[in-house]
Amino acid sequence: MSKPPAPIVNPEVKYSQIFINNEFVNSESGKTFPTINPCTGEKICDVQEGDKADVELAVAAAQEAFKIGSMWRTLDASRRGKLLHKLADLIDRDRVYIASLETLDNGKPYQSAYGDIYFSSEVLRYYAGWADKTTGKTIPVDGNFFCYTRHEPVGVCGQIIPWNYPMVMLAWKIGPALATGNVVIVKPAEQTPLTALYAAALIKEAGFPPGVVNIVPGYGPTAGAAISSHAGINKVAFTGSTEVGQIIMQAAGATNLKRVTLELGGKSPCVIFADADLDNAVEQAHEACMTNMGQCCVAGTRTFVHEDIYDDFVKKSAERANKRTVGDPYDSKNEAGPQIDEEQFNKILNLIESGKEQGACLQAGGGRLGDKGYFIKPTVFSDVTDEMRIAKEEIFGPVQQIFKFKDFSEVIQRANSSTYGLGAAIFTNDINKALMFVQSVQAGTVWVNTYNNVFAQSPFGGFKMSGLGRELGEYCLTNYTEVKNVVIKIPQKNS
Ligand code: ADP
Repeated sequence: MSKPPAPIVNPEVKYSQIFINNEFVNSESGKTFPTINPCTGEKICDVQEGDKADVELAVAAAQEAFKIGSMWRTLDASRRGKLLHKLADLIDRDRVYIASLETLDNGKPYQSAYGDIYFSSEVLRYYAGWADKTTGKTIPVDGNFFCYTRHEPVGVCGQIIPWNYPMVMLAWKIGPALATGNVVIVKPAEQTPLTALYAAALIKEAGFPPGVVNIVPGYGPTAGAAISSHAGINKVAFTGSTEVGQIIMQAAGATNLKRVTLELGGKSPCVIFADADLDNAVEQAHEACMTNMGQCCVAGTRTFVHEDIYDDFVKKSAERANKRTVGDPYDSKNEAGPQIDEEQFNKILNLIESGKEQGACLQAGGGRLGDKGYFIKPTVFSDVTDEMRIAKEEIFGPVQQIFKFKDFSEVIQRANSSTYGLGAAIFTNDINKALMFVQSVQAGTVWVNTYNNVFAQSPFGGFKMSGLGRELGEYCLTNYTEVKNVVIKIPQKNS
């Protein structure tokens, strides 16, 4: 991607209300909540706070939009694709503004936000293409019957998204849902509601019928819980922490067995063999931990390095971390901005302290940067052992843990010892080692000699406690469709 145009520093916020039925409205309770600039800890603006009553209204609007015979249900599938393309066009038109707003609300460097907005519209375009291509089958059943399947939309989909990639997560969720003819209620994270609300205005401008997309900002235990426990919602898709994923699955089970897909946490292994291209491995392993200030579910935070190159690798990784530029996210020289909020900031600092106390060797960083906002120095620990807290807990911050290993079977066993299984990577020039690793490691995505490459076209999701179901690619479509089996008796003879 070419260099982004200059940002709009601290752009004006245009939308801060709840979006239901293609209208911006205040919350039923009259309550608002502040959204905070993580660079300063100061309030950007107040946002209308959705809760149970607002979710009720959104569900009613979505159900109306989904009624048999409604404008949305009778729209040609190809037309749904055109609407998604139109939305992608509008996002592209306003990319500088949306990226600037994302930087303000989330703190990520503007050039990363600009890349995120590009990826968001690419995902919408990818799913636009699927709108008229999700076909069923004709099945040669026994007997004199004509049997075929229809792939029908599930219905009202509640979509609860996190704060680390706000616009990207919005696109991952609404793209496949709308392409397959569903209607949605999105709850953005309370830390980052602003770009989703701006996208709401674009959804209306694109021409989606009222009620097809509703966006209800608010807190997890209130607005989020109202979605996961609502009997009128047919499916919930969630991206966030494993703990909340478990709560959501329980709520879905306890109400109406709504379909559940979950994209949760990780503690992904990144395994470096002695025959790897060392500089590439150092850089990729660094980015695996530090991209997006370490706030990535798929962050490769367990760096396993073969003993023959261990000391060299640690030295180079510390040098790289010390060179990482952290500061004003609108300044293009900075690779990193602040952490999202005070809670995450304190949690990360606490884990860093635990690493020091439990005997890991601090090679770089190790504390906060500056005295304003939520900036943390890129941190590298070596001599990390498997039982330390930093080896097991998801840190969600710019902290790399480097472990030493001796041989293949040992490292596979240690890589798989986590309860998570989202991503994994191997760095080697030996194709046999790479293939054996791919076969043995328990992870939804395995990278070889690279990290963090995620595409609209290929599936993303986790083994074990990293999730349920897959997002992106064709695989995601099955989450958003019910299969209807149709059996028609064929008369034996003409009457
Ligand atoms: P993180 O730990 O990364 O902040 P969370 O899992 O807490 O992630 O949050 C991700 C999303 O889940 C946010 O939109 C948040 O509001 C929502 N959420 C948090 N708690 C609940 C809950 N009990 N029920 C439903 N949604 C929730």
